[in-house]
Order: sequence, then structure tokens, then C-alpha cells
Amino acid sequence: MKCAELMQLLNEYVDGSVDPAICTAFEQHLAGCNPCQVVVDNIRQTITLYRNGQPYGLPRKYQRRLHAALRRRWRQTHPSGPASS
Ligand SMILES: [Zn+2]
Repeated sequence: MKCAELMQLLNEYVDGSVDPAICTAFEQHLAGCNPCQVVVDNIRQTITLYRNGQPYGLPRKYQRRLHAALRRRWRQTHPSGPASS
């Protein structure tokens, strides 16, 4: 798995359509990629906090904000990565 593929999975995670925690390729990439670990930790904390107060999932508005925050952080940690173009 590449960083860009992991980011795509994260987008689906934010949408609630996939859980990266059960994805072996996702975990394997994270084990060897520190920038991605930072991004994923941040997103997981945000989603966990939010779900504690909103048991019915993330509202569309919040999903878009989270996607935007994800892209910003991605550019910071992957300045020359494929997802930054
Ligand atoms: Zn990565």
C-alpha cells in the first residue's frame, strides 16, 4: 500500500464505509510510515471524540471539514507525496 492509497482508505473511514483497524495492508503500511501514523492517530482521535457525542455517525458537514483537515495535514507530512499534487 502507498501513502496515497492509505489516504483514500482514510477518506472512506471518515465517511463511515470502512474501518482501517481491520485492514491488514493499512496496519502494515502504518508500521513502516511515521508520517502516516501521525495523520491516522489524529483522525482516529477526532472521530472517536465525535462518535462519543454523536452515536449516529458523522454529519456530512463535519465529514467535509474532516476531509479538508486530512488533506492539509497530508500535505504537511507528505510535501512531495502523490496525494499533494
Ligand atoms: Zn505513508
